[in-house]
Amino acid sequence: MKHNFGAGPCILPKEVFQQASEAVIDFNNTGLSILEISHRSKEFEAVIDEATQLVRELLAVPQGYSILFLQGGASLQFAMAPLNLLPEGGKAAYLDTGVWATKALKEAKKFGTVDVVASSIDKNYSYIPKGYSIPSDAVYFHYTSNNTIYGTEVFEKPATELPVVVDMSSDIFSREINVADYDLIYAGAQKNMGPAGVTLVIVKDDILGKSGRVLPSMLDYKLHIDGGSMYNTPPVYSIFVSMLNLRWLKAKGGVPVLEQENIIKARALYDEIDRNPLFKGTAAVEDRSRMNVTFVMDTPELEAEFLALAKERNLIGIKGHRSVGGFRASIYNALPLSSINALIDAMKEFEDTRK
Ligand code: PLP
Repeated sequence: MKHNFGAGPCILPKEVFQQASEAVIDFNNTGLSILEISHRSKEFEAVIDEATQLVRELLAVPQGYSILFLQGGASLQFAMAPLNLLPEGGKAAYLDTGVWATKALKEAKKFGTVDVVASSIDKNYSYIPKGYSIPSDAVYFHYTSNNTIYGTEVFEKPATELPVVVDMSSDIFSREINVADYDLIYAGAQKNMGPAGVTLVIVKDDILGKSGRVLPSMLDYKLHIDGGSMYNTPPVYSIFVSMLNLRWLKAKGGVPVLEQENIIKARALYDEIDRNPLFKGTAAVEDRSRMNVTFVMDTPELEAEFLALAKERNLIGIKGHRSVGGFRASIYNALPLSSINALIDAMKEFEDTRK
């Protein structure tokens, strides 16, 4: 068995992949592939309705929020959020916690003034800045809840009266959130939700329509809301597989159950990193992500040796991102505790061979 610690795209339970593959040949006994049925058919309408309902239920999305399945990845949201919310000449506040946060704020700068309230670039984004102030004349505050590359996570919504826009691409559905704390949540699906190609957007309806901008149709949230995420051909397969995965998530007991599992998984791995003298975590302890665990060893030679052992033990995808080095174990919802234990065993075994 392979233990996939890759950061994506699309780490899902095997049973979901199994169901997804069957529907490619024969979707719900229609004799047709899910790929070929009309996206306007009642069969696909049932899929998108169920996916929407599952998101609403699993995250307890309140009334007054719309749920959208869009294309263009989280990266398009970097532009779409300011275009829809920020009037010409308006100001937005951004927290800079890594590559994705930087990309988001760079994009927003094309449409208005960006106040970077704090940045952790001074320590290669290994911590989440605290104690910063957010200007009250900004139209919204944007942050990234989980920094996939650096292994840091923001668990509490930062204190502000402003509307909050959050990129939850790599931790959505991994822990409970209070949707009402946010005005716009977006997430590229491809970590805990489904295949690449669909982006989940949860938006508070009454923040829209105020930027005064003329928007290209495809970049207008209102238009997608009115069209039920079907203004144009939606990414049918990505939505379908996301729906299957959300069903799996619900059957497991929902987000609180996954959150408890994720806490146990992350704790076990961080405990071993802290105990084992050969490994060192790179993220500030209080900001450690439950989704992406980053760690290093003393020398590149040791790291290469451990990587070879990991490969032998079927531990896939643990090589760190080039901007942090070392290792990154991505431990999304679908990765079982047994895989974490397999990695821990390899770390212990490596320690033993060095004694
Ligand atoms: N934001 C975060 C936190 C990410 O981890 C990623 C990709 O890994 C992105 C944004 C970019 O997402 P996409 O590739 O869907 O544009």
